[in-house]
Amino acid sequence: MMADLANLVEMSNKHGRNPELVLAGGGNTSYKKDGVLYVKCSGTSLGTITADGFTAMDIAKLTALMEKDYPAEDAAREAAFLTDVMEARCDEDLSKRPSVEALLHSLFPQAYVLHIHPALVNGLTCSRGGEKLAEEILGSQMIWIPICRPGYTLGKLCNEAMKVYRQEKGQEVQVVLLQNHGIFIAAETVEEIDKILDDVMGKLEAYVRTEGKEELVKKLHALTGRVAEYLPIREAVHFVSSRESAEALLKPFTPDHIVYCGAFPLFVSGDEDLETALNQFKEKQGDYPKIVLLEKVGAFALCQNEKEIKNAELLLADAMKVAYYAERFGGVLPMTDELTYFITHWEAESYRKKQA
Ligand SMILES: [Zn+2]
Repeated sequence: MMADLANLVEMSNKHGRNPELVLAGGGNTSYKKDGVLYVKCSGTSLGTITADGFTAMDIAKLTALMEKDYPAEDAAREAAFLTDVMEARCDEDLSKRPSVEALLHSLFPQAYVLHIHPALVNGLTCSRGGEKLAEEILGSQMIWIPICRPGYTLGKLCNEAMKVYRQEKGQEVQVVLLQNHGIFIAAETVEEIDKILDDVMGKLEAYVRTEGKEELVKKLHALTGRVAEYLPIREAVHFVSSRESAEALLKPFTPDHIVYCGAFPLFVSGDEDLETALNQFKEKQGDYPKIVLLEKVGAFALCQNEKEIKNAELLLADAMKVAYYAERFGGVLPMTDELTYFITHWEAESYRKKQA
C-alpha cells in the first residue's frame, strides 16, 4: 500500500471507539490519493483497524460503474455489480474484500469520507418527520437520500443527487443522510470531518433536548426560580409512562444519587397541577425537587447551574440502570427513609453536595 494512511487509521480508531457513533463492525471510512480509493475492508472494525484493514481501489473504474447498464432483475444486477466492484480493486492483496459501501465512498471527490450509523442520527433518518426536519435542523448544506435498495441502486441515487447539488450550489456536498441507514461526511482533512460531525451531532442533540419542551422548561423555571432543563434520557420513556413505572425511582438507591439528584424525585401525573405539586413537595421536603418526572412527557432537572444539571442527568440515567438491573436481581430495594434522612442531614454529605 503506497499511500500514507496514518490519518485515516487515526480517524477510524477515534470514532470507531466511541459507542455513541459506532457499534460492533459498523461504519466505514476511506481516503483518496492519486486516483486510488483506500476503503475499509468488509469484516474489520473501525475501533481497531490498522492500515492493513483497508484495500486499494481504482476510483475511475468505480465511477465508470455509474454509467453502466445493469440487469433490472435484483439478483442478476447485484451479482454483476459485485463482480465489477471486485474488479475495481487495485490492491496487491486481492484476498481482501472492500466494504459493500465502497462505491459510495468513491462518489465523493473529497480526500476523506466517514460513514457511520449513530443512534442520534438514525433517530432522524428513521423518523416520520426526518426528511423535513433534516433541513430545518441541519440547514440546506446536505442531501437526504430516501429509502432504497443498497448496493448499485443506492449508489445511483446518491450519484444523481450529488450531481444536482453540485449544479445548484456550485460546490461539493459534505453531508449525506441516508433514510433508515446513516450518514456520510466528506472533507479534505480529518479535522474538517470532525468539525462537521460535531456540528451535526451538536445540532441534533440540542434539538432533542428542547423540542416541544420549551414551554414546560420556562414554566418550571418561572415556578421555582431554578435553572430548568429537559433531560433526554432514553430510558426515561419507560419510567414516566405511569406512576407505577416511576415508583422505582422515587426513593434513592445510594448516597451518590442523593447528592446529585436529591433524595426524592417528584412525579407529577397528567391530571395534577404542576404548581401545586411543586409547592406541596417543597412544604414537605423543605426545598424543590432536583428531578421532576412529568407523566408521559419526560424527566426534567431543577438546579442552581448547568454543571449541577449535567450531574443530575448522569446520576438519574444511572438510577434508571440500577432500577433495571435490580429488577433482574429480584426487585428494587431503595435506601431506607431513616438512612436517607440521616444522609441528607449529615455534614460530610452536605459538604460534598456544596462541592458537586
Ligand atoms: Zn452503512
